Amino acid sequence: MVSNLQEQMKAQKMNINERMSKIGKKIAIGSGKGGVGKSVVTSLIASYLVKQGKTVGILDLDITGPSIPMMFGIKDKPIAGSSGIMPVVTESGIKVMSMGLLLSNNEDAVIWRGPLISGAVSQFLADIVWEELDYLLFDLPPGTSDVQLTLMQNIKLDGFLVVTSPQTLASTIVKKAIAMAEELNVKVLGAIENMSYATCPDCGSKIRLFGDSKENKMGVPIIGTIPIDPQISKLCDDGKIENYEIDLGGTYKILEGL
Ligand code: ADP
Repeated sequence: MVSNLQEQMKAQKMNINERMSKIGKKIAIGSGKGGVGKSVVTSLIASYLVKQGKTVGILDLDITGPSIPMMFGIKDKPIAGSSGIMPVVTESGIKVMSMGLLLSNNEDAVIWRGPLISGAVSQFLADIVWEELDYLLFDLPPGTSDVQLTLMQNIKLDGFLVVTSPQTLASTIVKKAIAMAEELNVKVLGAIENMSYATCPDCGSKIRLFGDSKENKMGVPIIGTIPIDPQISKLCDDGKIENYEIDLGGTYKILEGL
């Protein structure tokens, strides 16, 4: 029995290594808190990279609260074949896999404890047929949970991007997410500050609703900023986030230079 389980785990590990060997750069996108815009940032980066001619995948690892399928308006279900599960492809060509795509009803709740969630992460890593990709982006759930641990222990990530908002920048929870990456030897590439400012529709001036960012307290440089923009929430709701274009400062250069 034990040896059977060991064999299975060995086979899974081999599958993970084989799948991941075809992926150029593996980047995790995380934050301390939920709702700061991790999935938005993941979607915007993927959309930018695919427009540059790169092959890109998103693995939505927010197992209990997946939002990537909605943001891209994905209606198709993944197809399982003999070699594994095929990701669904968005309008602009991003390959996506998410627990949300595997539920029969998108509104079904996934109420799982840690071990089951870890198992789902390993299975995603072992079974999804990405083929060759330039970039695979991992959209992490908030915090420092089993998902982060399972991911970082199973594969060698090329970098970790932290998503913050001005009011969460200095919080200990962001620092914990960074500390976890560092402890697991994952390079922290920088922070992307979402909801940095709003632009006045009349005069065009930038209003920093949450005050100035507190970059220094976090100890990680801000490499890109995103304003609060009603267009972003509308495109998310309409499933058209890949139509939004934004200059994320040095972020793309850092990713392309990895
Ligand atoms: P997280 O992944 O961190 O939980 P999401 O990326 O899912 O957060 O964002 C939650 C919602 O917040 C989105 O569906 C979107 O409607 C809204 N949102 C995020 N960032 C912005 C922004 N910069 N401007 C306007 N709305 C935003």
